[in-house]
This record gives sequence, structure tokens and C-alpha cells, in this order.
Amino acid sequence: MIKKLLIANRGEIACRIIRTAKRLGIATVAVYSEADRDALHVDMADEAVAIGPAAAAQSYLVMDKIIAAAKETGADAIHPATDPVGERAFAKALKEAGILFVGPNPKAIEAMGDKIESKKLAAKAKVSTVPGHLGVIKDAKEATKIADEIGYPVMIKASAGGGGKGMRIAYSQKEVAEGFTSSQSEAKSSFGDDRVFIEKYIEEPRHIEIQVLGDKHGNVIHLGERECSIQRRNQKVIEEAPSPFIDAKTREAMGAEAVALAKAVHYDSAGTVEFIVDKDRNFYFLEMNTRLQVEHPVTELVTGLDLVEQMLKVASGEKLAIKQKDVKLTGSAIESRIYAEDPVRNFMPSTGRLVRFRPPELGTVDGVTTRLDTGVEEGGEISVYYDPMIAKLVTHAPKRLDAIKQMGRALDSFAIDGFRHNIPFLAVIMRNSRWRDGKISTKFIAEEFPDGFHPPVPEGKVRDALVAVAGSIDHLSNKRRRLITQQMHGEPVRFCEVRLVELGEELIRVSVEGRDYPMTVTLGGEGTGEKVRHIEVNSSWWFGEPVWEGTIGGEQSAVQVRPILNGVMLTSRGVEAAARVLTEREGELMALMPVKEKPDTSKLLLCPMPGLVVSLAVEVGQEVAAGDTLCVVEAMKMENVLKAERDGKVSKILAEPGDSLNVDAVILEFE
Ligand code: ADP
Ligand code: ADP
Ligand code: MG
Repeated sequence: MIKKLLIANRGEIACRIIRTAKRLGIATVAVYSEADRDALHVDMADEAVAIGPAAAAQSYLVMDKIIAAAKETGADAIHPATDPVGERAFAKALKEAGILFVGPNPKAIEAMGDKIESKKLAAKAKVSTVPGHLGVIKDAKEATKIADEIGYPVMIKASAGGGGKGMRIAYSQKEVAEGFTSSQSEAKSSFGDDRVFIEKYIEEPRHIEIQVLGDKHGNVIHLGERECSIQRRNQKVIEEAPSPFIDAKTREAMGAEAVALAKAVHYDSAGTVEFIVDKDRNFYFLEMNTRLQVEHPVTELVTGLDLVEQMLKVASGEKLAIKQKDVKLTGSAIESRIYAEDPVRNFMPSTGRLVRFRPPELGTVDGVTTRLDTGVEEGGEISVYYDPMIAKLVTHAPKRLDAIKQMGRALDSFAIDGFRHNIPFLAVIMRNSRWRDGKISTKFIAEEFPDGFHPPVPEGKVRDALVAVAGSIDHLSNKRRRLITQQMHGEPVRFCEVRLVELGEELIRVSVEGRDYPMTVTLGGEGTGEKVRHIEVNSSWWFGEPVWEGTIGGEQSAVQVRPILNGVMLTSRGVEAAARVLTEREGELMALMPVKEKPDTSKLLLCPMPGLVVSLAVEVGQEVAAGDTLCVVEAMKMENVLKAERDGKVSKILAEPGDSLNVDAVILEFE
């Protein structure tokens, strides 16, 4: 067995591997860049080696530095986590250095690393592949000819592609010509390989993949499927196991094909065979990922297996201890990827200090499990250098809907502050009826949020719930003020009854514990006329706690509470509302206050996210037309091209290449 393991990666995946290694009594070595000196994976490992500057290309992706770190610490094995340095070259170099690679053999990686080659192999192993042209396409002319033969729509793909890059859908000859050229240049710049191929675009597709596990003795089993259809721009956001769409017969057929393909390449580790499934449950091989995937926890929760443990064991030469018939799928698991991005601003990456990072309660209660895989902790920093995924929240319950409900609750009580994140977006999806019914496809996000994400306005029961919480917090606040000693440990109110009287627009009279006092609660949204309702609120929340937990009208709820001027900002189920509890007189006076007008930014180009100015495409005095490129800003490994929204003339330039800008910094002004 392995004695000392080096983890050649960072973040949540590195932390997750360290956790299993520790449990198995294996010593661990972390590697870290200058930016990660205080990162969680460094804290968790027994030893840590600095491997250079923040940029991954100069640290985590430099094979020689990682091998040197292993030699220096005497590590006898390296786990690549996800694909840090080109997996194949890495596996080969380690073999030469006499260090064990915790992953498949280099030949299997090579065979599966290329989409064209792996599809050819799959076809040979009698695995159904997406109809298409299994060859490299020379030019746009050949591309349109092939697309005509396949039939529209088609998908143009980079053979070396990954992470949703270099892919284009085309519905016509014209789109094929355009898509071919842009896919080719994106493939060249992202992967240094411009080979492009074309296949049929499967409509209303679902992404369903099979987890396989092999050993060095020729045994391969599968651990069922994961559905990853909730994607944004071909990137997974929410995954689940099992798929609500797959029956036992289809599962068996897909599993058998995945195992056949794995056996064809003598696969000897954990791997994933991805399929695209059409509405009639026909499935087609997409590609194989020869590593531990981000979404592996859902498989672990339904099978009860630890995939990292299995990888470490088979890498050391052990035979698989589990047979296919021993694999039992129990319950349903959901994973949400928590990204440092602003869902409201078109999911732009966001950076900053983790001022607050308080995960929900983890563990198993009444057969329902909540798990968190993360690589960050409170006080840490989200930098521009790495992937914006900061954590994965995973739930498991006997029934799918219960796992979804638990995910909703866990997201509501996950307090993160200091930068923007996608929890409100995920919380809204958890309440989406199409998602709850499992009627999804890879177009789900595009169809349900056609013009981006707009946080839902507080209305109906959510609004009442937030009003009730605001009222009860105000009540506590008065009570605290009345405490003669002013001490925090005075008797907090454990129960209070809030009676709401809506008086149109935004005037709501609340009575707390039988004592009536009129007040206005600014919650936004529209009033619904005169109504009287009773909402019972029960909580032991006290000032300073970021999450209000308790029952509202008998229902278990979590509401995030952040103090703001004269009130609290309340968040629940993706709804955010500023709540101010005022007496009637205060309300009257408040109505007289001038409303702060939003500054006119129509003549400014603002930096949409914190980032680095790469280049400016215009000069002072230059006339620009709508759509012209103005500036390129780099953030989180992505170049963002800022274009002119309308015609105009540049009057001032306030930034220059190399500048590091904050969000909303003015880059240039128009006349
Ligand atoms: P990557 O290497 O970027 O993961 P994949 O080939 O696995 O590329 O495709 C990523 C996603 O793109 C899939 O999950 C699916 O949503 C979509 N996709 C890929 N190929 C097709 C296709 N032929 N028809 C429809 N959707 C596809
Ligand atoms: P869960 O989150 O447990 O899945 P549901 O989505 O089934 O709950 O919703 C139960 C009902 O409670 C819904 O009708 C919903 O509108 C209402 N509700 C919404 N927000 C809240 C809240 N913060 N507290 C209590 N009930 C709420
Ligand atoms: Mg893929």
C-alpha cells in the first residue's frame, strides 16, 4: 500500500483526497502556489511544498516541479486529482521516475484523451456513438459538406476539447462555416490543437454518465449513472444520482457498454464514460474522462463507496474487492456546485475575501445526509487565479424530492459573504417544478432563465415569511433595548406571534405578542389589499447569528440575516429583501426622504468584474459603433471582451493594460 501520497492539485478536490488518505493512514503532501500559502489543503496535509508563482501555468501545471516535490518529500505516489498537468505525459513521466500514479495507465489515458480517437475505439467496442464524421475536417467547405450529409442541427467540436470549450451548434450551412472557424481558433488557443470534427446535435439531450472502476487484473465494474443535465454553457452546475430518467434496463445497457469500452483500453482506475441520451432513451457515447470527476460524490452517496479509496487501492495493485452484483444503489443524491460568480451580472466571476463562510449543518439526520466538499474557509481569499468553484454541497435521502428539499434548506442556511456567489440561483432551481419533476434537458437553464437570472421578487408565502421574520427580529430588538442590564443573555423570546395586516402598497401593521403597533415594512413587491393573517414564528435566533433558523407558520425555515442601515437584509429561497420595521410616524417621515437616484453610467464603460486589463482597442477621440471591441479584461482564467453597447465617441480613457481593476471601475468615458 501507498505510504506517502502527494496531491498534485489544490482546492476542494485536493482537500477531499487528503481526507480519505488520512483515514487510510497514508501520509499526505500538499503542493501550493504563492497565492495558496494559507489555503485549506496546505493546512490539512502533513507536509507542504511551495511550487512557485500564483499562476497555475507556473506552479500546479508544471510537471517537473511536482515530481521534484515528490522526490524531496519521499512521496511514493501522486494523485493528480483532476487533470493538472496533461494527464498522459504526467503518468508517463511518473513511471520513469518510479513514482506511482494514482490513475489509469498512460495508454488508456492516451486512447481516451482524444475525442476522435476515443469515438473510433468506442465504435470498435460496439458502443453506440453519436452519428457523425469520425475524422479531422480540413476547412469550412468540407465542414458544410459533411454537415449536409449528417443532417442539421450539428455540433462542431474540438477533438482535444474539454470543459465545454471549442464547441458550436449549427443549424445551417452558414452557421457551420462560422462555427467551424471559431471552434478551430478556440481549440488552437485553448488546447494548442486545432483538430475539429462534426457530429449530429442530439435535440432535447440529457447528459448521463456511467462511473466505472477497474483494477490492474482486468476487472471492471460500473457504479451506475449520474445525470448532469443542469448545465450552463455546456458546463455542469447540478448533478444527481441516479438519473430520474433512467430505468433499470437502460442502466444495465449503458453500464454494459461503459464496461466494454473500459475493458477495451485495459482501464485500471476510476473513470467516467459520458453519454448523451435523447428523449426516447437512445444513448450515445460522448467521451471518457480518465480521472476523478467533480461530481463523484453523488455516486459515493448512493453506492456507499469511497472512490478515492478505491483508486488508491487499485493503483497499489489490489484487486477490486467488489463485484458487479455487490453494487447497490440506495436513495438519491444531489450535488450543487457553488461558484464565486454573480448570477445577476450574467454569472461574471467574483473575487474577494471570505468575510463569512458558515456551512449548513452537515452529517446525517433521520436518514438524510448533507455533505460539503470545499477547499476554502472563513477568512480565506477568492483570487483571480483559479477556478471559481469554491465548494460542492451534496445531499442524500431515500427519495429524490427529499434530497432536493434538503438541498433547498441547506442552501438557505449557507452563509457566505464577501463576494458574490450563485447560492440564490441554486436555491431558486431547487424550487423549480420542472427540475423537481425531473423533466430536464441540457437546455434547462437556457430555457428557464432565457434572459439571465433575476432574483425573484418577494411575494406570496415567501414574502409573508420574510415579513414575519422581520417583525420578530424587531420585537427582539425592542426587548433587548428594554433589558435594564443591556446584557446579551437576558431572556430571549423563544416564541412570538406575528399578526400581519396588509394595508395596500407597503403598509403593514404587525402585532407582536398581542401588542398592536403599526409599522411599515419595506419589502418591495406589491401589496395585495386588506387582509388579516396569523403567522406563528418560532426561533431561538439571537443577534449576531448570520442565519435565522426556526419555523414560520409551522414550516422549518432558514433565513439569512445581515444588518443594514435601519433594518436587516433578509435572504431565503433566492429572494433578497431589505426589511425595515418602522412605526407609523417613522413610516410617514421616511416617505418624505429623498430617494437616492442611481448615477447615470450610460456614458461610461465599467469593469464588469475584478480583473486585469489585457488590452485597449480604442483611443481618445475614436468613433466606435455598437459591437466594436473596446477592451479586454482577464479574470479567473478567462478573457472577457468588452464591447460597445451603442455608437459613440471615446472622450477619456482611465485605464491602461496591466491595471488591476475593481468591479465597476471606470475604464473609459464616451462623449
Ligand atoms: P467536454 O469535453 O467539454 O466535456 P463533451 O463532448 O463531453 O465535451 O460535451 C459537453 C456537453 O455538451 C455535454 O454534456 C452536452 O450537454 C453537450 N453536447 C456535446 N455533444 C453533444 C451532441 N452531439 N448533441 C447535443 N449536445 C451535446
Ligand atoms: P421546501 O423548501 O421544504 O421544499 P416547499 O418548496 O415544498 O418547501 O414549499 C413549501 C411552501 O412554503 C411553499 O408554498 C413556499 O411558497 C412556502 N415558503 C416559501 N418561503 C418560505 C419561508 N421562508 N418559510 C416558510 N415557508 C416558505
Ligand atoms: Mg464532457
